[in-house]
Amino acid sequence: MIVTRFAPSPTGRLHLGHAFAARFAYDKAKENGGKFLLRIEDIDPVRCKPEFVDGILEDLDWLGLKWDEKPVRQSERMDVYAAALRKLKDAGVLYPCVCTRKEIESEIARMGHAPHAGETAVYPGTCRGKRLDLSLYDRWSWRLDVAKALELTGGELYFTDESRGTVKANSAVFGDIVLARKETPASYHLCSVVDDAAQGVTLVTRGDDLFDSTHVHRLLQALLGLPTPRYCHHPLVLDAEGRRLAKRDGSVTIKSLREKGLNPAEIFELIKKSIKT
Ligand code: GLU
Repeated sequence: MIVTRFAPSPTGRLHLGHAFAARFAYDKAKENGGKFLLRIEDIDPVRCKPEFVDGILEDLDWLGLKWDEKPVRQSERMDVYAAALRKLKDAGVLYPCVCTRKEIESEIARMGHAPHAGETAVYPGTCRGKRLDLSLYDRWSWRLDVAKALELTGGELYFTDESRGTVKANSAVFGDIVLARKETPASYHLCSVVDDAAQGVTLVTRGDDLFDSTHVHRLLQALLGLPTPRYCHHPLVLDAEGRRLAKRDGSVTIKSLREKGLNPAEIFELIKKSIKT
């Protein structure tokens, strides 16, 4: 059976881009008699707010995109991510990084959410291979030693994308990514891979701007012994200037359109007009 999911982060109200992504996942499941699941990606306690979780449920319900199982909340699964992290540590593919506070802070700010295209700088590997006494530091992060990980998994890794076909994973695309930090055993990449497997997702649908993440996710699946789902990266809903919709730009929300009197069918019509393929 086909199982898809919508995995928003509750950092604001849903906008047209979310409605499109949710509908896309919903249709892929329902056209094939499958299940549509919901996952709340709320590992970042600073940016994620409980009222936005309620907003997500309310908007999806109003749009007619009813999910099939109890929604998964990542903030409740830290022990599961800690276990996965331990497995990677035991495999010897993680190393602690104590690079400057400023650098780590910006990395931390990024690690809780998915790196949308163009957002990630490649870490130069400063702490790789260093023998650090962590008792001397207040904070550190755990980075994936990609070269070592690739050596361990051996050979080439592939994944299937519905529009691109078989894709050879370029798992070094982001360099040695941060998978956790001292107090938080979680990052977008780690949680996403662990949860897609735990929820039995067979088809991951998400925006084209997250395509590069899939290269890294394929490597994490190999390291953690998890199945690789199929993927389908879809085009993004763009604004009138051709830019990706983002909460930080104050994109028009589903709630505000609803308050203006639009119904769900009109909202999906509006989306159809803005989508660029
Ligand atoms: N929470 C991610 C986002 O906000 C979703 C990533 C995914 O679908 O894997 O974009």
